[in-house]
Amino acid sequence: MSDTPTYGFDTLQIHAGARPDPATGARQTPIYQTTAYVFRDADHAAALFNLQEVGYIYSRLTNPTIAVLQERVATLEGGVGAAACSSGHAAQIMALFPLMAPGRNVVVSTRLYGGTVTQFSQTIKRFGWAARFVDFDDTDAVKAAIDDDTRAVFCESIANPGGYVTDLDTISGIADDAGVPLIVDNTSATPYLCRPIEHGATLVVHSTTKYLTGNGTVTGGVVVDSGKFDWSASDKFPSLSAPEPAYHGLKFHETFGPLAYTFHSIAIGLRDLGMTMNPQAAHYTLMGIETLSLRMERHVQNAEKIAGWLEADPRVDFVTYAGLKSSPYFDRVKTICPRGAGALFTFAVKGGYDACIKLVDSLEIFSHVANLGDTRSLIIHPASTTHRQLTAEQQAAAGAAPNTVRLSIGIEDADDLIADLDQALAKAAH
Ligand SMILES: *Cc1c(COP(=O)(O)O)cnc(C)c1O
Repeated sequence: MSDTPTYGFDTLQIHAGARPDPATGARQTPIYQTTAYVFRDADHAAALFNLQEVGYIYSRLTNPTIAVLQERVATLEGGVGAAACSSGHAAQIMALFPLMAPGRNVVVSTRLYGGTVTQFSQTIKRFGWAARFVDFDDTDAVKAAIDDDTRAVFCESIANPGGYVTDLDTISGIADDAGVPLIVDNTSATPYLCRPIEHGATLVVHSTTKYLTGNGTVTGGVVVDSGKFDWSASDKFPSLSAPEPAYHGLKFHETFGPLAYTFHSIAIGLRDLGMTMNPQAAHYTLMGIETLSLRMERHVQNAEKIAGWLEADPRVDFVTYAGLKSSPYFDRVKTICPRGAGALFTFAVKGGYDACIKLVDSLEIFSHVANLGDTRSLIIHPASTTHRQLTAEQQAAAGAAPNTVRLSIGIEDADDLIADLDQALAKAAH
């Protein structure tokens, strides 16, 4: 169904990438629980290994269940192709890998998922890569951070831990002027609320662990390519534009055109980094995506109701949710996420760190977990958990100060969630 992009989102989330199984007619996508695929003959095998023919060799690279997921997410995001992998963090490394080299840098927003701040500020240094953290509302600072060694710009659409929305149109314009791709982590918004490629993003990454799967069952990630970037316009991206020694001098961009980046991600990235998704995980994620729009609508409805209730409560200092009129991002969110500001936000509790800890321990429906984007409502105190490794300055920049808790609003009855918060806030005040 990928050749019928005129269908609406609700239709595509169920059908894109899938077709009845050619061997059995199975209507639901089978879990192809196999490591390898039998070659027709030696010539077929050689053609596959030379990338002259597309087909299945070994499940570290490609698998039919995972291929359906890749096509589905690419279609929902408006991209030309996608590579699935084992987690959201794997997707971030996979996204940067074809672009970066020792000595190169990526310009990144200060407002990021805590694990991403750590991955970018510490771990990628071991590859000789550097991340430059900048406030993405300060466009002059973003421009000033980009230099001849910059190979990408990276941000989140709705930034974790919530409340901040990136002005993707402005940032993609800056990346375009510098001749580098913009990578957008669209995990918190999902393609139902935000389509970064329509705002100029070159690549979109997801932790499929979150809303796409939707019920906290499996980890996964995906990198979607818009197919729009000209990798040969400069000599900055030799992995894509120059002869590739690991494929007898094949030039990915010249050979595969708009699919160059996706082919590289699979033929080099998954082959050699091995951060592969497994077919069971792809199955769970495909199940989740079938109801994405229905869930996101309820997530947003509940989040709007609960954020409004919290904001009016005297035990609460402030709520950072871009769907509230008091948010500095209230107007921006209408352009970037026209169907709502998501369901992830923070609020500050009067009484600070200690009151936050009491609140978290007193809730009954909300679970205290390091996850988000579940059907269940979740809470975490970032300063003592996910953002614990960060400096006080980094915590503040990420919106994760000691008096702040983050909610991931689920799809239960909003009134039950409000009653739960009410009783826990009462306990936290003592
Ligand atoms: C969870 C998350 C990640 C990391 O994904 P994993 O699947 O946990 O590796 C990256 N970005 C955002 C915005 C996330 O919420």
